[in-house]
Order: sequence, then structure tokens, then C-alpha cells
Amino acid sequence: MDFEINRIQVRKNNRAKNLRLAVDKHGRPVLTIPFLCPKWYALRWAEKQKGWIEKNTFTPNNFAPEQNISIGDKIYKLKHNPQQKNNIVGKTEIIIGGDLCFFNRRVRDLIKKEFLSLLQKQVPLYAHKLGVKYHRITLRDTSSRWGSCSARGNLNFCWRIALAPEFVIHYLIAHEVSHLKYMNHSASFWKTVATLTPDTTRAKNWLKHHARQLQIG
Ligand SMILES: [Zn+2]
Repeated sequence: MDFEINRIQVRKNNRAKNLRLAVDKHGRPVLTIPFLCPKWYALRWAEKQKGWIEKNTFTPNNFAPEQNISIGDKIYKLKHNPQQKNNIVGKTEIIIGGDLCFFNRRVRDLIKKEFLSLLQKQVPLYAHKLGVKYHRITLRDTSSRWGSCSARGNLNFCWRIALAPEFVIHYLIAHEVSHLKYMNHSASFWKTVATLTPDTTRAKNWLKHHARQLQIG
């Protein structure tokens, strides 16, 4: 528990009326306290919120050898072989070559490559089904948006979605492609999404509860 307490960043706020716990984008707990509230009192209060802190905070991780990762519905064990120049994607394992200090970046690049080729297959299928045209597909690393669609018909996806289950990936593709037809979230838009995937509610729920596990690498 001492460790947890040390991780907490305490912020005094003139306008705060109550003690408040939140999580910043690096996964650390932030405790906001009213200006006149003593720090020791606030920390004692935070100590009682241990369950909440453990459930809601996270440590950003890098990919590491011997770790299991899932890309869509496939699970791979990550391995490292410094003698090997290229990466090898097997059925159940991915062997990363080169120096260990590049391991995380090479895993990330490999996931991006796999994900982009999946998008390049799936987006045209959905676009064809809706009779819409798209311009370009780009991968980003955005923490607040999993995807977006520009007025020019460019589709952007956060590469981390590759680490989500397939029904979530397909929902996000369906969502962005449907924006090529409706640039809003109207009832017609959601009806269009539903013609491409039956999993909208399930996928939204998954993202709401598991988005944290995508913050890796
Ligand atoms: Zn949208």
C-alpha cells in the first residue's frame, strides 16, 4: 500500500470542494484536494480507496520477450533471437530479431504492418457494401480516439486496436466506413453500422472496460 500511496500525485485546487481521485493518461492516480485540506488527511482518505486505485490505474508497459500478446483473436508468444535479422511470424509465436533494445519498437512495427494489411482488406469490403469511396487509410497513435474519418474520405485508425478482439476491430472499421455515408452519429448512421456488424453494443462495452489493456508498447 505504501507503494500505491507514493504513486499518487497530489494536486491542490482552489475550486475543489471535495477530495477526488482520477487517473492520468500515464495510468497514475491523481488526487485533487481542496486548498485548505491537509495533505495527510487526503492521503489517509485515498488509502481507503485502495480497491478503486488498483482497479483503475495501470503501468504503461513495453512488449517483452516471453510475453503473450493477442492480435485480433490470435494469441502469440513473443520470442527474441538476436542472431536473426528479420522477424518471423509463426502460427503461435513471433520471433523478433535484432538487438534487444529495439525489441519493443520492432513488435510495434510488426503489429502495425499486420493491422494495416487487415484494414486494406476489410475497408474495401465494407465500403463496397455501402457503395461509398474512401481516400486513404492511415495508422495513428491516439489515446482518446480509436478512429476517425475526414471530410476528404481519409480513414484513420489507432494501431492499438489491433490488440483488441476481432469483433471490436470489425466494429471500429464498420463505424469509420459508415462515416463515409453519414458524417454524424444520427439514427441513420447507427442503422448503417448495424448492416455491417451485429456487435456494436458488445464492442462499445468492451472498449469501455478494456481500453487500458491496449496501452502497451
Ligand atoms: Zn463516429
